Amino acid sequence: MAHTKNPGADELLDREFAVLDKGFVRLVDYLGDDQRIVEAARVSYAGGTKSYRQDRGLIRYLMRNQHTSPFEQVVFTFHIKMPVFVARQWVRHRTGRLNEISGRYSVMKEESYLPAGEDIALQSPDNKQGRKDEPVDADTAAEVREILESGRRDTWQRYNRLLEMGIAREIARIDLPLSLYTEWYWQMDLHNLFHFLKLRLDRHAQKEIRAYARVIMTIVEKVCPVAAEAFCDFVLHSQNFSGPELEALKALAGGAPVLLEGSERKEFFEKLGLADPA
Ligand SMILES: Cc1cc2nc3c(=O)[nH]c(=O)nc-3n(C[C@H](O)[C@H](O)[C@H](O)COP(=O)(O)OP(=O)(O)OC[C@H]3O[C@@H](n4cnc5c(N)ncnc54)[C@H](O)[C@@H]3O)c2cc1C
Repeated sequence: MAHTKNPGADELLDREFAVLDKGFVRLVDYLGDDQRIVEAARVSYAGGTKSYRQDRGLIRYLMRNQHTSPFEQVVFTFHIKMPVFVARQWVRHRTGRLNEISGRYSVMKEESYLPAGEDIALQSPDNKQGRKDEPVDADTAAEVREILESGRRDTWQRYNRLLEMGIAREIARIDLPLSLYTEWYWQMDLHNLFHFLKLRLDRHAQKEIRAYARVIMTIVEKVCPVAAEAFCDFVLHSQNFSGPELEALKALAGGAPVLLEGSERKEFFEKLGLADPA
């Protein structure tokens, strides 16, 4: 076992990958890669070095069978710049370790997220937490952007005025907007990072946090390509079926009617990507 040397991953270090209008993800450091997962799994039964094919098979076996602890042996540290409303969602992932810029200590930079016209949409009628897929027309988008910008101009004027008055930064900042960019160092092990990615790459997650998750996924694919592929195959693009759903699958295969009802029925056909024949 040696300190990880992964030239493909090393070339990502210290590069800012742009996200949204002013944000970024930067890989500060990583510990371990696919090989570390294999070594950690084999130590439990004192197994030696094996071929790439066997290593790949082992990682896929671990992922399929939720033998998760070897994935915890790989650790990533990211420097991330994101709007506060994204950070609020992000911080719910309790297994990460983070250090964030302090608005008590520093004068906050006048940087806020302004959605592009194509990201501005009406409230979705069926997803209470989300927006419609199609954006509003160009005139409406321009009006929305102007409303957001004018509100911010006022907010920053008041912030700067309070600072000029000598008011403490921790008080002056209390009305700053959710769109304000914040920055943090965030460390996460691969097992929990996969959990984060499963939730935040999902179409139910807010579009803005999904943009960050996609960049992080491309970094993980470079550092641990085999584990990332196994995650996509057995977690991200897989589906769990309940007992009643398995019965429904058998019914479908045998040409019998599906007996599920209501939202369970709707979700069952959504999982399969099929139209409900009823
Ligand atoms: C699309 C979407 C919509 C959401 N909407 C809302 C919302 O409206 N309101 C809201 O409040 N939240 C919302 N959330 C946040 C959500 O409820 C979870 O808090 C978040 O996704 C983190 O998931 P987690 O707890 O599994 O992850 P982590 O905190 O990373 O935890 C990983 C796993 O570790 C275990 N764990 C971690 N800490 C503890 C602990 N202290 N005790 C016991 N077990 C622990 C759990 O098994 C957990 O699954 C939403 C999340 C998503 C993805």
